[in-house]
Amino acid sequence: MSGQWEVVIGLEIHAQLATKSKIFSAASTAYGAEPNTQACLVDLGYPGVLPVLNAEVVRMAAKFGLAVNATVAPRSVFARKNYFYPDLPKGYQISQYELPIVEHGELFIADADGNEKRIGITRAHLEEDAGKSIHEGLDGYSGIDLNRAGTPLLEIVSEPDLSSAREAVAYMRKIHSIVRYLGISDGNMQEGSFRCDANVSVRPVGQDELGTRAEIKNLNSFRYVEKAINFEVERQIELIEDGGQVQQETRLYDSDKDETRSMRSKEEANDYRYFPDPDLLPVEIDAAYIEAVRATLPELPDAKQQRFIDDYGIREDDAAILTTSLLLADYFEAVAGATEGKAQGVANFIIGDLSSALNRDGLDIEQSPVSAKDLALMLDRIKDNTISGKIAKEVFEAMWAGEGTADEIIEARGLKQITDSSAIEAIVDNVIEANPGQVAEYKAGKDKLIGFFVGQVMKETGGKANPGQVNAILKDKLS
Ligand code: ADP
Ligand code: MG
Repeated sequence: MSGQWEVVIGLEIHAQLATKSKIFSAASTAYGAEPNTQACLVDLGYPGVLPVLNAEVVRMAAKFGLAVNATVAPRSVFARKNYFYPDLPKGYQISQYELPIVEHGELFIADADGNEKRIGITRAHLEEDAGKSIHEGLDGYSGIDLNRAGTPLLEIVSEPDLSSAREAVAYMRKIHSIVRYLGISDGNMQEGSFRCDANVSVRPVGQDELGTRAEIKNLNSFRYVEKAINFEVERQIELIEDGGQVQQETRLYDSDKDETRSMRSKEEANDYRYFPDPDLLPVEIDAAYIEAVRATLPELPDAKQQRFIDDYGIREDDAAILTTSLLLADYFEAVAGATEGKAQGVANFIIGDLSSALNRDGLDIEQSPVSAKDLALMLDRIKDNTISGKIAKEVFEAMWAGEGTADEIIEARGLKQITDSSAIEAIVDNVIEANPGQVAEYKAGKDKLIGFFVGQVMKETGGKANPGQVNAILKDKLS
């Protein structure tokens, strides 16, 4: 990308709220049911039926607003957004327009230099989802599944404060953590419960006015958000540098081709003929309600991260990783609280060995075959010198495979570290005797060869000699 362009991005994130029933009806929101078995007459907008607001969605939206330091509106209003689409039998979507429930929030991410950057949250409003078109397996026809119609969404709109794909992803991850910490959305991106539209524009550095934006619809993974934005930025810069103009339009990201494609020209708000929904009363909430909701707020990711740094003395980056998910943070605390070992060592093990084992097997932390208690016991064995950090990896893999506790595995496989100096000395003597050439070179000043000797001793002992002792004895005997 050439240096004279500045990138401007604003995200509209749709988080599906984790209610049992829909926003205006009693139909179930459970995922994966047979098509069209979970849409009732209200969701379908039959004449004469009336929507009834699910009180839980209001509580969830208020919770989100407080978590991002926003104003929770004492009065907000549902509006009809009118458009035609086969997955919207009512001909309008109930949303909030002029008076959303949440406004003027903020959160903080790290910018490219690692400095804290404030991202404004313009608003978050409640709305219902539409149904879904299905094209697969229908032999040239399209099907409509209305199960999703009426599912509650919180649409979270950012200010155009994001300056790169990386910042956009950091912001989206933060929102993702927050909604899951709050328990208001499961954030499941494969199931479409958390997705975003990315508005992207570029402008010459130094220009105040924003460039014309394109809106990339329905990105449902962090990787796609990053790739789609990067593609779009390149496309816009090339277009302008070749003398063209960016069109204000809606685009789709094609992950197979890794490109965005024009879908339709952008509609303006007045195309939708928004008006207050006459079937729904304004949502009115008072200060007592807001304070009651505030009292239910959990410790949020930023606060938890700071506490991990302060209380456990672990590195900032590691604290950030461990607090992305509440369950991972809980796991860390459970291990750190139960082991004699250092908290930083716990963090290293969880972020390293444990996370790669989870990734490899496609498991979430709550499915880990190694419990926090068992991992703590294993880390104790490193701390008390029963095993080295290297042997710990073997013990951990065996625990993962269900071979038993650390102590059982150390016993059964004979992995106990050799700390008996006379035993180590005997092996060191053998190694020195077997390698006269290397000994001569070492004595002539090739210090690096110490690694070779340590390696030989470790080989002889199956990695079980205490590395500190091996080093000391070798240096002593070779000097
Ligand atoms: P809509 O998409 O419904 O027209 P808005 O005009 O409020 O809604 O903008 C939606 C999103 O687009 C917001 O996140 C906003 O920050 C972002 N945005 C607006 N203008 C630009 C721009 N020129 N470049 C990038 N993002 C923009
Ligand atoms: Mg939009």
